[in-house]
Order: sequence, then C-alpha cells, then structure tokens
Amino acid sequence: MQPLFVDPVVAIAIAAIVGLIVGSFLNVVIHRLPRMLERGWQDQCAELKGEAPEERPRYNLVLPRSACPGCGHPITAGENIPVLSWLLLRGKCSACGTAISARYPVVEVLGALSAALSIAKFGPTWQGVAACALLWTLVALTFIDFDTQLLPDDITLPLLWGGLLANTFGLFVPLREAVIGAIAGYLVLWSIYWLFKLIRGKEGMGYGDFKLLAALGAWLGWKVLPLIVLGSSVVGAAIGLALVAFKGRDHNVPLAFGPYLAIAGMIALFFGPALVRVYFPGG
Ligand SMILES: [Zn+2]
Repeated sequence: MQPLFVDPVVAIAIAAIVGLIVGSFLNVVIHRLPRMLERGWQDQCAELKGEAPEERPRYNLVLPRSACPGCGHPITAGENIPVLSWLLLRGKCSACGTAISARYPVVEVLGALSAALSIAKFGPTWQGVAACALLWTLVALTFIDFDTQLLPDDITLPLLWGGLLANTFGLFVPLREAVIGAIAGYLVLWSIYWLFKLIRGKEGMGYGDFKLLAALGAWLGWKVLPLIVLGSSVVGAAIGLALVAFKGRDHNVPLAFGPYLAIAGMIALFFGPALVRVYFPGG
C-alpha cells in the first residue's frame, strides 16, 4: 500500500505521541460514557412514568471540566499532560494529595502502544490509521466492560460499520469476508447464548458480546472468528477459574466476556492472517 509520504521511524514516533493524547481522551470516554448512558436511561424511565426528568448540570465528554474527585480542584492544562503529569505529581492531586489511579497513565500508554504498533506493522498507510482506530476502540471497550459489564451500542455499532467501511477499500480482508464475518460473528455467540440459556437456564454473556464479535468479524473477516472465539474462551475460562480458586469469587457472578473478545481481536489483527493460513491452508 502507498505510504503517506513519511519516514517510517518518524511516523511511528508521531503515532506514539498522537496515541498518548488519544489515550488521555479514552480515559474520559471510559469514565464518562457509562455515566452518560445511565443518565439517559434514568431520563427515559422518568419520561415513561410521566415524570419530569431530573434537573442536573450538563454532563458529557467535554463538560464539566475534569476535577479532582477528592477536593474538586480543576485539572489544569499542565496537569493534563499524558503520563508525564501523573509521574511528576507522583500519582497525587496537587491540591489535596488524593491518590490518582495508575489506570490513567496505563490507558495513555496503551493508546500510544496501539498507535505505534499499528504503524510499525502496517506502515504509515490508511491501513495503519484504521488499525489504530480499531485498537483504540477495543481499549475503551475493554475497560468499560471490565468496570460496568456493558459494551455500549454507541461504540460497538459504529465499530462494526467502521470495519465494513475499511474493507470496502479492502484494507484488511475482501469485503465479502467482512460481511460474512459480521453476520457470522453475531450469530455464533447468539447461538451459544441460547443453547446455554436453554440447557442451564442462565445467561453466560450479553448482546453486547455478539455485537463486538460481529464488529471484529467485519474488520478481520470470518476466517479469524474461530481463533477469536477459542482464544477468548480459553483465556476467559482460565482467568475465571483462577478468580474462583484464589479470590473465592462466586462462580455465579457473571464475568465480563468483552475484554477477552477485545484482547483476542487485538491479537488477531496482528497475527490473524498468519494463523489463518495454518488452519485454512491455501485459503
Ligand atoms: Zn484534590
């Protein structure tokens, strides 16, 4: 594919810096989007009951400005530099000393790594740019699902369309494989869900998981789906059993499956085609 006129090493460095800034935005999405959705649902419930929605200050991805949850000290521009600010502040609010979670710099580093690895693998091309977008979205979904057991439609559905759009230009797989991947991804988990429900009378996962696998199928094609389902189940089962064994976690508490799907999807982006050639020789 035609490079976008940049030296590869420079391109990776630029990608890493852009990735840090995007990672900082991902922190906002991970923290605020579930709360925004919850507010929306509360308003809808109130409307159905014929009540006036509760009056609240505006809350979205931009407003209010970020502030320390301990003392309300607004985060200044200087305190908002990805990773660096957290290190300089030694993980504490400059005003009151409340600890700031290490997750913020971790997500920023993941944003940078996603971008750098995408550009390193696919080059400074549209394919590389699309891979960055996919990985960033998967990072956000992983943390949101881990926190809330939700995979919001506001992210999974645009991700699905994005995959189909990318492959309209044949960026990762032929469009045909992408369309079949999207449909098969949804149906595979949907079938497992209903089987599980009929046999055990319990729900093992949610509709968000189906949509996420549909999105991965749209990006990476149907051929990697067995890989993703198998990989995520093995890792998920291993971690689930470890939690039950070592932390005494009740095995009836549903475990978010989305993070494992997302991580398997990330691996499939980089190694999928090579692995697919192992089990679909000549395909
Ligand atoms: Zn504070």
